[in-house]
Amino acid sequence: MVRIPVRDDLKALEGYHSPQVEVRVRLNTNESPAPPPPAWRDALAAELSRVEWHRYPDRAATELRDSIAALHGVSRDHVFAGNGSNEVLQTLLLTFAGPGRTVATFEPTYQLHGHIARLTGAAVAEGERRADFTLDLGEVERLCASADPIITFLCSPNNPTGMVEPETNVRAVLDVAPGLVVVDEAYGQFSEWSAIGLVDEDVPLVVTRTFSKTWSMAGARLGYLIGPRWLVTELDKVTLPYHLDTAKQVAGRLALRFVDDMEARVAGIVAERERIQAALEQLDVEQWPSGANFVLFRPRHRQGVEVWNDLLARSVLVRDCSGWPRLSNCLRVTVGTPEENALFLHALEEVLR
Ligand code: PMP
Repeated sequence: MVRIPVRDDLKALEGYHSPQVEVRVRLNTNESPAPPPPAWRDALAAELSRVEWHRYPDRAATELRDSIAALHGVSRDHVFAGNGSNEVLQTLLLTFAGPGRTVATFEPTYQLHGHIARLTGAAVAEGERRADFTLDLGEVERLCASADPIITFLCSPNNPTGMVEPETNVRAVLDVAPGLVVVDEAYGQFSEWSAIGLVDEDVPLVVTRTFSKTWSMAGARLGYLIGPRWLVTELDKVTLPYHLDTAKQVAGRLALRFVDDMEARVAGIVAERERIQAALEQLDVEQWPSGANFVLFRPRHRQGVEVWNDLLARSVLVRDCSGWPRLSNCLRVTVGTPEENALFLHALEEVLR
């Protein structure tokens, strides 16, 4: 059998694991529990019926970027969009990381930051958070001085902990980081503040966002960043031509007409999250404060993986983080519909009894 060797630096790399199994209650990937509004569906269907499918899409995604720019009060040339914020992160890393360069993360955080950095051939310097998962600015300073990262990642609210990075921390990291600071705000709408307000032509900062969570469009694969113009120009050179298909551009542009619906969904999710957090208080688990649409928790007297399996046996799927570094026995539950959350809490209560 013929097997062609992969790149030496990829041999030890693991792929991305998040089981997709058929269950009654799926709370493992931080999706929105509700679909986008019917009026969006209708508007999309109407526009798609007029698409000239024999033509390439608008390569610059002009109207989509204009709409995103308007949402954030910036101009189009501060916006770069991609197929999910993962592709935005990949394009950033292809542009600035790569062999001979180092990327800094503060663990635990979103695994794909380090993973995609390694795929580009870059080294990853993993800084430690404090035991309570807050950012240790002394550690940031130490890591920036020793590793000289070209990109320093923050994530706010942080996945998988759910914790929001205070503005003072982001400013402090900007002061000490020698290269670009990337703030991943995939869950940004759940936070009181956004680092987008700090973006400026002369500040080495970008903020990434996604349509996958609060916009209820994980199936569309659309994300973007807000950053300095010079940086967007560089990313445009690296990304593949016509990378955003016509349907996606229309879907994203139309979604932004429904900001009020999105904000109502966020408010509903936050109320449900608070209900879950209050219920977890009554159970034999430790939990972390969340400013997102998920909660990280750890059973006190049972193995995390066993609890995960017992929940799955009751057709409830949460994220098993129990084998991840620094997260032993931890599980992460996405806020679902009120019915799904009730089923999850009922199952968890049973499993922990
Ligand atoms: N950043 C963070 C912190 C995430 O949790 C996710 C989704 N799990 C992403 C980025 C990627 O989202 P997408 O590619 O769907 O935009």
